[in-house]
Amino acid sequence: MSQSPLRFEAVMEQLSRRRFLKISAATFGAGAVGSQIPVVPSLAMGSAPPAGKVETIATYCEMCFWKCGGIAHVRDGKLWKFEGNPLDPMSRGRLCPRGTAAVGTHYDPDRISKPLIRTGERGKEEFKAVTWDEALNHVADRMKKIAAEHGPESIALWKHGTGARFFEHVMRAYGCINKGAPSFAQCRGPRDIGYLLTYGTGLGSPEPTDIANTKCLVLIGTHLGENMHNTQVQEFAEAIANKATIIVVDPRYSVAASKAKYWLPVKPGTDMALVLAWMNVLVEEGLYDK
Ligand code: SF4
Repeated sequence: MSQSPLRFEAVMEQLSRRRFLKISAATFGAGAVGSQIPVVPSLAMGSAPPAGKVETIATYCEMCFWKCGGIAHVRDGKLWKFEGNPLDPMSRGRLCPRGTAAVGTHYDPDRISKPLIRTGERGKEEFKAVTWDEALNHVADRMKKIAAEHGPESIALWKHGTGARFFEHVMRAYGCINKGAPSFAQCRGPRDIGYLLTYGTGLGSPEPTDIANTKCLVLIGTHLGENMHNTQVQEFAEAIANKATIIVVDPRYSVAASKAKYWLPVKPGTDMALVLAWMNVLVEEGLYDK
C-alpha cells in the first residue's frame, strides 16, 4: 500500500511535461478539426430510419446506476436508435443526454471493446488486444505472484458502482480485506449510514422519495438537474409545475437554484450550522409533526 504514491510519482515523472503537452495538443486538436471528421450517416442527428425491417428490443441503459429501461432499435444486427421505454417507471419513456447518446457511444471508434495488455513502458500508450481468457489468466498469474511474494493483503480494491460487487467476491476469495469506496464516502455514504443509524434502514439509491407531489422541497448537498438522475429530474420538473416551494442551499447559483423560491448561498462547510439552526427552530417552536 505504501508504495502506491511512489509508483504514481514515477509514472508522472515518465509522463514528461513535453509528452503531456503533446497529448493535450492532440486532444484539443481533435476538437478543433471536429468538423472534418466524417459523420457516420446513420448516427447523424435527425437521420431517417434505415430501409428494411427494424427490430425493437426492450433493454436498459447501463451508463449509470439508475438503469433506465429503454428500447433498442436494431437493423441487421446494428443498433440504430435507443430511446426510453414508456412502460419503465425509471425512464418513463425518456432518457438523460447520456442515455440518448447510446448509439454514438456504442459505435465510438475510441470505445475500448476488447481487453488490452500493456506492451510498453508505463506512460506510453502501447497495448495489444487480447482475448478475455488471456486477460484473465494474465491478471490471475500476477495476483498469484503477489500473494506468494507479499501476501494477499498487500493489494487493495478501490471500488465504485454496481460492477464492483463482482470484484469484491474475487478479493474475498483471494484473501484480501482491503477495500475502499471514496465516491461512496463523498456521496451517498453519509446519508445512507445516517439513515441506517437513525431509522434502522438505509435509503439506497434511487431514494424512495415523492418529489413530484411534495409541497416544499429542500435541496441541500445535491445538484438535481445537473446530474443524470433521470426520474428525479422529471419529478423535479413536475414539482415546479405543481408550484412547490423550492429551497436550495448551494454556494453556486445552480440550475435548481434558478428554479427556487429561496436560494441560500451558504459558505462552503457551513451546511451543518444551517441544519442545526433549522432543527433548533423546529424543536423550540414545536413546528415538528407531532
Ligand atoms: S439516468 Fe441517464 S445514464 Fe443513467 S441509466 Fe438513465 S439514461 Fe442511462
